[in-house]
Amino acid sequence: MRSGFGCESCGSPAVRLPAELNDDALIQCDGCGCTLMAWGAFKRRVEAQDAAERHDPAERRAIGAGVQPMR
Ligand SMILES: [Zn+2]
Repeated sequence: MRSGFGCESCGSPAVRLPAELNDDALIQCDGCGCTLMAWGAFKRRVEAQDAAERHDPAERRAIGAGVQPMR
């Protein structure tokens, strides 16, 4: 799962972005054209997923305290 996103109606991961990106602008599914959600909500969703995949940097620093540095 790379993008972590799929249209609930047609399953397409492609979205149509509004010409003007502000948090209230609505994005549409590129597959079926339905309105998905506001850009602001979409952005937060992607960012949250991104952060979860990368793990918490503070946590990693704590774990890596006694570990060899990366090459
Ligand atoms: Zn769709």
